[in-house]
Amino acid sequence: MTTHELQARLREVRRRIGQAAERAARAPGEITLIAVSKTHSAESIRLAFDAGVLHFGENRVQEWEGKQRALGDLHARWHLIGHLQSNKAAKAARLFHSVDSVDDISLARKLDRSRAEAGAAEKLRVLIEVNLGNEETKSGVLPEAIVPLAREILSLPRFHLAGLMSIPPFLGQPEGVRPYFRRLRELRDAAAGGLAHPLPVLSMGMSHDFEVAIEEGATEVRVGTALFGHREASQP
Ligand SMILES: *Cc1c(COP(=O)(O)O)cnc(C)c1O
Repeated sequence: MTTHELQARLREVRRRIGQAAERAARAPGEITLIAVSKTHSAESIRLAFDAGVLHFGENRVQEWEGKQRALGDLHARWHLIGHLQSNKAAKAARLFHSVDSVDDISLARKLDRSRAEAGAAEKLRVLIEVNLGNEETKSGVLPEAIVPLAREILSLPRFHLAGLMSIPPFLGQPEGVRPYFRRLRELRDAAAGGLAHPLPVLSMGMSHDFEVAIEEGATEVRVGTALFGHREASQP
């Protein structure tokens, strides 16, 4: 991929974000673009950073560990957006600014401890991943488990709980996903009220449906294909 191609794609994604925000009477600046760089090279990540992208999402700790060595000089924010296995928690706590896919209290405790052991000055930002479609194959907690998990997470000293994340069922028509995005916003509103703790972040929407997500209140969209092109088939 050339710088020129990447810049053109980024412009197009930003234009789509801007238009969706406008339709929803929101400021485009309220929406953070997370460039999902899984399977793509460190060089592509650097190109995107140079073009102005500040947030990147990776879904495998191991893969990111391999790439980050070449990118240590970039002042970007690195998000883990994929399912985290317990035996990778220590690495994840060290290698990411944010874990956007927390769905388990024992995993959260392990991340919290590892963050302390790593001596990180900054708290680990976390989002609770919610399984909205009740899909057995997907990670994430069911809606009724959000508040209990959030209460436990709020007691962890190295965590900053910022909001919710979801990967709704994949539907051909982005419009079909709208009820899921709306549901996540409603669940967030209810949880924030119940906990008396603000949960400003809603991470929802990918390449094919992020406009609908923005119309429903997304504050972070996770965009891979529309920025970096198609991935090799083996990755979700
Ligand atoms: C791969 C991935 C994305 C990006 O998907 P695209 O359709 O390529 O934009 C977003 N979120 C998560 C959790 C992913 O794993």
